Amino acid sequence: MSKVAVLQCNEYNKDDVYNSIKRGIELLGGFDKFIKHDEKILLKPNMLRAHEPDKATTTHPVIFEAVIRLLLENNYSVSYGDSPGFGSPQYVAQVTGLDAVAQKYHIPLLDFENGEIVSFPEGKQTKQFEIARGVLQSDALISLPKMKSHQLTRITGAVKNQLGCVFGLNKAAFHIKFPNPVDFSRMLTDLNNLVKTRLYIMDGIIAMEGNGPASGNPKKMGVILISDDPVAIDATFCKLIDLNPDFVPILRFGKESGLGNYENIEYCGDSIDQLINTSFDVVRSPVKDETLFGFLSPLKNLLIRRPIIDIATCKKCGICVEACPVNGKALFQKTKADFPYYNYKKCIRCYCCQEMCPHKAIKVKIPFFGKLLFYRK
Ligand code: SF4
Ligand code: SF4
Repeated sequence: MSKVAVLQCNEYNKDDVYNSIKRGIELLGGFDKFIKHDEKILLKPNMLRAHEPDKATTTHPVIFEAVIRLLLENNYSVSYGDSPGFGSPQYVAQVTGLDAVAQKYHIPLLDFENGEIVSFPEGKQTKQFEIARGVLQSDALISLPKMKSHQLTRITGAVKNQLGCVFGLNKAAFHIKFPNPVDFSRMLTDLNNLVKTRLYIMDGIIAMEGNGPASGNPKKMGVILISDDPVAIDATFCKLIDLNPDFVPILRFGKESGLGNYENIEYCGDSIDQLINTSFDVVRSPVKDETLFGFLSPLKNLLIRRPIIDIATCKKCGICVEACPVNGKALFQKTKADFPYYNYKKCIRCYCCQEMCPHKAIKVKIPFFGKLLFYRK
């Protein structure tokens, strides 16, 4: 049975957040149960992109600060880092407010722009990963995921946060290698088994719903979750938003691979029932193999969800084109004065363009026949 601490915390008040996380760690047996004093501890927040904290895209600096304070008070050696989806780690750290906290406590940002290939023969889907040097230089990880909706995997939480341990463009390359979201989810559970994070502290005070993981809307959930089991934390996130766990393949593969479990969870802390919010906007349908129709593209375009640019919102910045991992691109922009346009025949539905659009101009929509025939529950 896995144990998850559920801590009600209504706002990013420094003392409240600090006391909530302290209480949660104590309920789980204290830091000593998970990390040793002679180990170099790496904090891995969500630094997906350069958004200010109130956008709810990244781990809030107040959560980051509370964890740093607790670790330093207990005499641990701490560093941090992440590989953003767009922008350098230094720039993203500045905009997200993490850099100011790190400077205050003299916490170094480790190298997440270079790394090494690490083989993982036990992997069910992936036998090697390009792991960031900062991860390899550390003895133990504490992950600080953000609670968010996600178009490809339905939610992004504890398991998906560790994709940032892979440096630079190697992350996007996984979308080409595993365009099918089911295989992609299996790869994520392999990665978590490789990096073996000791503890996960999820920021769910203000989560992101809707067009996540970067273009959605902030949603107050008022909760912090802590566990050493990422599958149990993500399952708890599903429970809090009343999402069928069968719609989230990382849970099933996480259990099958021995990463964790989502059926037998012991909760401690505050009552979970009072924190459930069924109005959370998330895709409430099973993850389907959207590459199924690759051989019959007209059918694919009639049935499968696809990214669409809202030209009323688009600022023609071209970041979506840059983010597309497909060789030769599935999204084009003739000149900087033109709106980008899709070639859906080439599009593998990875939604990197939607994830990276800084102006919330890309939505993922299901065609009419897809609603009728393919995405029915
Ligand atoms: S990233 Fe967004 S705003 Fe920029 S060109 Fe693409 S759709 Fe338009
Ligand atoms: S166009 Fe968008 S969804 Fe399609 S492959 Fe490129 S990044 Fe992925």
